[in-house]
Amino acid sequence: MWRSFSLLFLLGACVNFHSLEQKRRAEPQPAEATAPRWRAEWQAIGRSAEGRPLRLTRIGHGPRRVLWIGGIHGDEREGRIATQELPYAFLDVPGATSEVTLTILEDVNPDGAVADTRGNARGVDLNRNYPAKNFLAGPTFGRTPLDQPEAKALHDLILDERPHLVIVAHAWRGDHFINFDGPALDEAELFAQRSRYRVKDSRHIPPTPGSLGSWVGNTLGLPILTLEYERGSDPLVCWMDTREAILAVILGR
Ligand SMILES: [Zn+2]
Repeated sequence: MWRSFSLLFLLGACVNFHSLEQKRRAEPQPAEATAPRWRAEWQAIGRSAEGRPLRLTRIGHGPRRVLWIGGIHGDEREGRIATQELPYAFLDVPGATSEVTLTILEDVNPDGAVADTRGNARGVDLNRNYPAKNFLAGPTFGRTPLDQPEAKALHDLILDERPHLVIVAHAWRGDHFINFDGPALDEAELFAQRSRYRVKDSRHIPPTPGSLGSWVGNTLGLPILTLEYERGSDPLVCWMDTREAILAVILGR
């Protein structure tokens, strides 16, 4: 008796579900359900030496401010898929947009990216052009700090925003690791826990005078992570290998 009763109930539930499903398909869907969940609105924070826009977009409105920089050395493009996919991965984390304002600077060296060169169109390494104590003048470092328009635009953005964390994507020959400057040891360790990347201290890396890390981390005292993907590796694999770790440090949890 009970068995046939529950069978009838189940059948009824199936029919009900089926008709609901048909009804749902027949009805026009509200616009927000079919529209893309997020569309980048880019603004230019400046122009490169050759006049290319330095494009920035923001996602979320939370009190924690995180700046992701997709590239600074033009011949290190391994982080490009990470930069493309990060907004969608961020939006998939419940509560992320109310906890964090994520600012994405697509690429601070678009001229170098087009030409596949480390430096910008004037041959200056933008990651040596910052007003850190260890700045060294030279033809590939710049005559004075911030004499390159790309370096100056990013400098002004960081002073305006005072991010709680800066992450910048690079690539390293024959290795991959997470490096940090300033008060970012906790973030670097969190990154290492959530990935196969190990923390590599700046003391174990050749000196980087006038680097973004030296200026942000040591001069301003703001946490900065330098993410070194392995040079020449598949950008999609780079992203998949670091997705969880990147989200963890962005959210700080
Ligand atoms: Zn680099």
